[in-house]
Amino acid sequence: MNYPKKFNDLIQAFQKLPGVGAKTAERYAYTMLDWDPETLNDFLDAMNHMKTGIQRCKICGNLSSGEKCSICADPDRNRNMICVVESPKDIAAIESMQEYNGVYHVLNGTINMKKGILPDQLNIQSLLDRINEETQEVILATDPTMDGETTALYIEKLLKDKVKITRLAYGIPIGGHLDYTDSLTLLRAFQGRK
Ligand SMILES: [Zn+2]
Repeated sequence: MNYPKKFNDLIQAFQKLPGVGAKTAERYAYTMLDWDPETLNDFLDAMNHMKTGIQRCKICGNLSSGEKCSICADPDRNRNMICVVESPKDIAAIESMQEYNGVYHVLNGTINMKKGILPDQLNIQSLLDRINEETQEVILATDPTMDGETTALYIEKLLKDKVKITRLAYGIPIGGHLDYTDSLTLLRAFQGRK
């Protein structure tokens, strides 16, 4: 399309987002063009502050506005149960079922030999450092994908003599992702863990 350069720039910026093609990007650009200055400002403000206002929790690796995330800072959480997930998105999914009251540990990915992602690039050491004699259970809640399974097995080997380890009982289809799973399926996977 023969748009002004700045408008094309905006369309191209949107196309950097996952799942956004040319048509959708164009629609976003038109939508934004119609926004009143206040709405536009709020949007730009959120963008501008995302790097400085969003940190990683020093304890678990979850997204956080300070040193500790809201879950690690919550005194009512059971610190003796640690649920290990791939990404902060998975925490949101598990939290939405309102069943789990332990804490989390975010690996920030999975082991993937092909992509050259090795265990030492994930937050595994910090997980080992958190485990002590008080720890009752480590729940491995990585996705039921090849990489998720490999990672769960790897961690299981490291921890098996130290603490009780459980894995979600997947009604979640193989290759599925925790954060796309409906909360009932996730709840069953949690309750049936072994
Ligand atoms: Zn935390």
